[in-house]
Amino acid sequence: MAKTIISVKNLVKNYGHFQAVKGISFEVKEGEIFGLLGPNGAGKSTTLEIIETLRPKTSGEIMVDGLCLDKQPNEIKKIIGVQLQTSGYYPGLNLLNLIELFCGLYNRDVNPMELLEMVNLKDKAKAKVKELSGGQKQRFSVATTLINQPRIIFLDEPTTGLDPQARRSLWELIKDIRKRGTTVIITTHYMDEAEYLCDRVAIIDSGNIVAMDSPDKLIDNLVASGFERPKEMKLANLEDVFINLTGHSLREG
Ligand code: ADP
Ligand code: MG
Repeated sequence: MAKTIISVKNLVKNYGHFQAVKGISFEVKEGEIFGLLGPNGAGKSTTLEIIETLRPKTSGEIMVDGLCLDKQPNEIKKIIGVQLQTSGYYPGLNLLNLIELFCGLYNRDVNPMELLEMVNLKDKAKAKVKELSGGQKQRFSVATTLINQPRIIFLDEPTTGLDPQARRSLWELIKDIRKRGTTVIITTHYMDEAEYLCDRVAIIDSGNIVAMDSPDKLIDNLVASGFERPKEMKLANLEDVFINLTGHSLREG
């Protein structure tokens, strides 16, 4: 059994009188891709940002790689990679400059070109963020999470708003990152994405975890409970038609 790298116990977050997270507990294993799934407003970003040390919690206990969130937040910051909003980047700098800047801030000796190559943006090294397509922006934002060579990265809805090709390209990047030994926590409301990427998922609804297991096991449990789809599934869906017609390759100009 893999080692636990994140443990969350009885996490509560109140915003004034409103309880956004209602005492949730879960563990993330080292090297897995763990998904937090749930509708808008479920409490996913709140939970993520608390673990990232970016938002205070109301109560609960959180450990990240043996470090206590209350006592060692700065140590935790050093071993995690957090996606920044691409709109927040210095607009005058190109991708290469930005990565060099972050490397300096983190005091890390990362080869910026290698990092851009990993996220398939080597050709765009001299471009500014505003000149990138949606998918390229997301890949760049994922690249920035890797600069401090983190043990865990946090991705909050990384594929929202992307076309099917750009989503698939990001999926491959995320699998790649995990293959290199980094643990990934991702939020999404695309269930096909969660099924493809996640080893385990927690489904959050209104601040409570209502299920947690591998996607396969959750589906098997539902089927075992007697559930049947209301209509027989076709062998393909509209997304298959779209990908079949327009190809897997990225369209980003
Ligand atoms: P999700 O990421 O699952 O969509 P969030 O964690 O962003 O959900 O939000 C959970 C709930 O908490 C929502 O009802 C949201 O409106 C509320 N919320 C989030 N941030 C704040 C805040 N800073 N102040 C007050 N309420 C907030
Ligand atoms: Mg959110």
